[in-house]
Amino acid sequence: MTDRTALTLADVLAASCTIRDVVETTPLVPSMLGPELGGELWLKLEIAQPIGAFKLRGAANAIARLPEGAAGVTCCSTGNHGRGVAYAAARKGVRAVVCMSELVPQAKVDGIRALGAEVHIRGRSQDEAQREASRLVAEEGLVDIPPFDDAHVIAGQGTIALEMLAAKPELDTLLIPLSGGGLAAGMALAAKAIKPDLRIVGITMDRGAAMQASILAGQPVEVEEMPSLADSLGGGIGLENRHTFALCRDLIDEIVLVSEDEIYRAMQSFYRADRMVAEGASVVAIAALQSGRLAPSARMGTVVTGRNVDMEQFTRVVTGQDVTLGDVTVKGGHHA
Ligand SMILES: *Cc1c(COP(=O)(O)O)cnc(C)c1O
Repeated sequence: MTDRTALTLADVLAASCTIRDVVETTPLVPSMLGPELGGELWLKLEIAQPIGAFKLRGAANAIARLPEGAAGVTCCSTGNHGRGVAYAAARKGVRAVVCMSELVPQAKVDGIRALGAEVHIRGRSQDEAQREASRLVAEEGLVDIPPFDDAHVIAGQGTIALEMLAAKPELDTLLIPLSGGGLAAGMALAAKAIKPDLRIVGITMDRGAAMQASILAGQPVEVEEMPSLADSLGGGIGLENRHTFALCRDLIDEIVLVSEDEIYRAMQSFYRADRMVAEGASVVAIAALQSGRLAPSARMGTVVTGRNVDMEQFTRVVTGQDVTLGDVTVKGGHHA
């Protein structure tokens, strides 16, 4: 069973007060691609957060609400969640240990350290890193901050919808990049409480769409993880999912899947038209509209979720070169 009714708009409103000292209120600006896509597309620029991604919101809320006596926090993410935990903990003077395997590239290790966290490197797999995090919880009293399936994290991510609707109450559809579903669950919860007729569309890549597969199966299922231009959307939703599965199942009106070719093209278009650097995960709404997989509406909003790209891969995309992702190659070229 899930305790989905436990989370309400009040939790998101409380989070927006709680995280104000660590998290920026980001701009909401119109995309230059709107006319071509068939409707206004408003961009919530979470790339302007101090860690370059929205995950700071959930991490800051969870860290502000640590149980009494907690000795600090830990997590296993080497991506945006790890960066958010490291930064929010440093700002609050809380000890943070990010656990990783030996296979994690040095640049990522350095990036997390530079944000103020300790890094524990253990073994050659994510599982071994997770064992170290569990040990820190059991033996040193740290609290493991999950990347999405946590009530405080979901409420933190939901604050994005509050800011978007305060700035543009006329928005009729939110196009939300979807992976573990913390972002979509929090935003949908808040947005539908404020504006019940607002449409919520979750968008993810067709290579390993765990939330969609789970909703179709009626319960959390595992999917094979594959390399993607939208690497921040990779990973499962957890077979023991407690919150995001039920929230996404109940609150998302439609899920749209996009291909690697479509993400490639959207990254190029966004860079050329809006002149900003964004991860593949951040432009899936543009990919869905550009490809015709999603029909436009008059006033859409999406979240530009992160800018922490692999610069070499990003340069290849925007200069029209081929990109190899595991066993597939996305053919280069320039799209108008
Ligand atoms: C984590 C992340 C997402 C997806 O968020 P979920 O809560 O896992 O659905 C999207 N974009 C970026 C850049 C992310 O880091």
